[in-house]
Amino acid sequence: ASEISKKFIDLADKFGAHNYHPLNVVITKGSGEWVWDINGKKYLDMLSAYSAVNQGHCHPKLQKTLHEQAGRITLTSRAFHNDQMGPWLEQLTQLCGMDKALPMNTGAEAVETAIKIARKWGYTVKQIPRHKAEIIVCDHNFHGRTTTIVSFSSEPQYKDDFGPYCGGFRSIPYGDAQALESAITPNTVGFLFEPIQGEAGIIVPPKGYLEAVSQVCKKHNILCIADEIQTGLGRAGKLFAHQYENCKPDLIILGKALGGAYYPISAVVGYNEVFNILKPGDHGSTFGGNSMACALSQTALKIIVEEKLPERAYDLGNKFRDGLANLPTKVVKDVRGKGLLNAIEIQHNAGKGRFYSELLQERGILAKETHDFTIRFAPPLVMEEASMQFAIDTIKEVFSKT
Ligand code: PLP
Repeated sequence: ASEISKKFIDLADKFGAHNYHPLNVVITKGSGEWVWDINGKKYLDMLSAYSAVNQGHCHPKLQKTLHEQAGRITLTSRAFHNDQMGPWLEQLTQLCGMDKALPMNTGAEAVETAIKIARKWGYTVKQIPRHKAEIIVCDHNFHGRTTTIVSFSSEPQYKDDFGPYCGGFRSIPYGDAQALESAITPNTVGFLFEPIQGEAGIIVPPKGYLEAVSQVCKKHNILCIADEIQTGLGRAGKLFAHQYENCKPDLIILGKALGGAYYPISAVVGYNEVFNILKPGDHGSTFGGNSMACALSQTALKIIVEEKLPERAYDLGNKFRDGLANLPTKVVKDVRGKGLLNAIEIQHNAGKGRFYSELLQERGILAKETHDFTIRFAPPLVMEEASMQFAIDTIKEVFSKT
C-alpha cells in the first residue's frame, strides 16, 4: 500500500476491531461500476459491497432523492405515520406480487423478523405447542451474524465461540428436496433457504430444486421462506432468483440493494394470511420504515425496473461465463453462477483466493474471496458491456499466466 493508503489502513487497524481482512485499498469515490482509491487509481468494482450496489455507485437519481429527502424529514419512528413508507410498501408489495411488507434495516434483522413471523404463525395458526416450533435450514447457509442466526450456521468460525445457541433449527443438505420432506415434523413451521447460496461460494442448486421445495412446503403446510437478500432485485438475472422456477415463497426476505447502496433498508414481504398474525407491539425497530430509507428505496426499486437491471444482469452474466469458459483447468476448477452473481473456484493446489484477488487488484479489478478457494464476481448491474469485456480479459490474463 502507498504511504497515503497506509495512513488510513493503520487507523482502521489501530482503532477498529479486526473482524474483517480487507484488501489493501482505500476507496474514496465511486460512479456506476467504477471506484477510485485515494491515490487516484481506478478499479472495476466486482464485489458491489457483497451485492448491495446493483444500481451502481452514486446513481444520480438516488443522489437527488437523498438531497431532497434530507432537507424535508428523515426519521419519525413508527410512533407516527410518514409520507414515504406507505407509497414504498405499495410499490414493493406490487413488485413482489404479495400483500404486505415489514421494513427493517439490515439483512440479519429481516431474517430475524421472518423467523419471528414463522414461529408466531406456527403457534397461532398451526397450533403448535408453545416454544416447540422448528425451522428447517440448509447446511452452509448464510443468513447473517446475530446470535440466533449463527446458532444454525455450519461454519465453525461463525459460531464456535458465540454460544449458547438458540434452539429450534434443523439443518439439512442444500439442493435436496427429499431431505426437506424427510426432516419435516408436526412442529415444523418453515423452511428458510437461499435460492442460490451466496457466501457458501455461489452454489446454484440442481434444476427443479426451487419448484420442488416450494411444493413440499405447500403439501406439508409450512412456510416457504426465500432469503433473497443477496440473490434478489436483479442480481441473479431475474428480479428474484426463485423465479427461475415455479417456486412460490410465502415470505421473501430482502435487503442489500433495496437501499440502492445509499442506506440500509431490509424487508420481509408476504401475504395477508401470514402477516395478519402480527399485532401492535409484537415487533419493531426505531429506524425501520424511516422516511429517508423509504424515499431512497422507492428510487432504488424504480431504477431496477426502468433500467431493466435483471435483464442486463442475465445477458452480461452469460457473457461473463461464456468469456471465461476455457480457463486452464490446472488453475480453475469451476466457473459458475447466474446473472451477475458468479464465482471462480480455484484448484486447491493452485494458490488461495486471496492471492488471485491481489493479482486482480493490481490490474484494476476489485474482487474478494469467499472461503479460501472461491472468488466471487458480482459487479454493479448497471455496468457497461465494455467494462465486462475488460473484466473478462483481465481475469483471463490472471488465471492463465499464473
Ligand atoms: N442473508 C443473505 C443471503 C446474505 O447474503 C446476507 C449478507 O451477506 C445476509 C442475509 C445478512 O445481511 P446483513 O449483512 O445486511 O445483515
